[in-house]
Amino acid sequence: LTNFPYHHVLVLGLAKSGTAAARLLLNSGRSVRVNDKNTSDTDPVAEELNALGAEVVTGSHPLSVLDDIDIIVKNPGIPYETPLLEEAFKRGIPIITEIELAGNLSETEIIGITGSNGKTTTTTLTAELLNESQKPAKIAGNIGFAATEVGQSLEQHEKMVLELSSFQLLGVKTFKPRIAALLNIFQAHLDYHKTFENYRNAKCNIFMNQTEEDFLIYNADNPTVAEAVKEAKSTKIPFSLNKQVENGAWADDTGIYFKNEKLIEKHDIVLDGDHNLENILAAICAAKLSGASNQAIYNVLTTFKGVRHRLQFVSNVNGRLFYNDSKATNILATQKALTSFKQPVVLIAGGLDRGNEFDDLIPYMENLKAAILIGETKEKLALVAHKAGVPVIETAESMSDAVEAAYNLSDRDDVVLLSPACASWDQYKTFEQRGDMFIQAVHTLL
Ligand code: ADP
Repeated sequence: LTNFPYHHVLVLGLAKSGTAAARLLLNSGRSVRVNDKNTSDTDPVAEELNALGAEVVTGSHPLSVLDDIDIIVKNPGIPYETPLLEEAFKRGIPIITEIELAGNLSETEIIGITGSNGKTTTTTLTAELLNESQKPAKIAGNIGFAATEVGQSLEQHEKMVLELSSFQLLGVKTFKPRIAALLNIFQAHLDYHKTFENYRNAKCNIFMNQTEEDFLIYNADNPTVAEAVKEAKSTKIPFSLNKQVENGAWADDTGIYFKNEKLIEKHDIVLDGDHNLENILAAICAAKLSGASNQAIYNVLTTFKGVRHRLQFVSNVNGRLFYNDSKATNILATQKALTSFKQPVVLIAGGLDRGNEFDDLIPYMENLKAAILIGETKEKLALVAHKAGVPVIETAESMSDAVEAAYNLSDRDDVVLLSPACASWDQYKTFEQRGDMFIQAVHTLL
């Protein structure tokens, strides 16, 4: 760890990133205390860290864990409004996330990617473009691999492409990716960030320490983003789906360009959806700045089918095309999914009720052939589908019932789309499990 002048460190939360942070801190000679409310002392991770020399406090968050602490490495999911963190503020103890530590690993070239939607797809694609160009890159961060762990395992010249959530970015102080990308900013996670302003500012932390030598890729079509990047000192690289931009990536009716060079015809791209074209443009910018070749970009875009659970093509069952977009956990993602198809669509939607309304889906639902609604929000969504004039509206108790109903209501050449517009936790452990249940149900139709 370079430039990390703290000795007594409290690691809060022993999930993947906390555990990796604790290991790194112990390896680099820091005195480490770890605290997790939901773990016990006999948990294998607690035992391992204890054996490595950490002081382990489990079962609750006593205020005494703050005694003698210089800095806190907090799990991004833990809200700041807890008695322990409020006390830490009072005592003036700085609070960071594991990403700040990853930024302090020497030698690692970091490409950081954030936005309300599209992070995972863009992160995955950027790494694929680089690897195809023989510029080795590994993915980490919010995508599921702890950034400090991956950062330490890199071979010389290997780069790290980091997916960054607003929760992670809220806890950075000196973090400075050489290449940053800001995909879009929409209303999201206001339960955690309280105001849109706070959420926007957290996202902007991705570039706050950048200088002219660093690059900031941004979505020139998203007004909030275009306004936000004005404060950046970085070298700015725009991308746009609807106008030619200098120095960046853009699209016209036929192709995709980087600066003045045409890289690929749109009809040769495998990935569906205009929103994915935005992700492609951002990934092209990042990969080109990091040394990718045009041939590699062409090779990947003619084969890359997308990431599991993100508008993922599942199967053709008697002419019906089944798509799994289980990761669409908010309204915007479902709007994007619904604009991705010209064919008639039977939509399966619904899930956890966060108390929001779904009227913003109405204009996007007008051409639906049928809607099958599931989960806690099924009644709310049925009302919205009714307002949109959807001719057939049904509810279903299970995913297999929903898939069967969708199959029966669809015809050859139709799309059957799972794009819930809601989180999955009312019926499933994760959105991945929900998507897997959908895939399984589709396969039983075969
Ligand atoms: P994230 O990691 O930011 O959640 P993903 O790549 O996992 O993003 O995509 C999540 C969902 O958001 C997908 O289901 C897709 O429908 C939608 N989506 C993906 N990219 C974009 C984008 N650029 N703009 C708007 N929506 C998008």
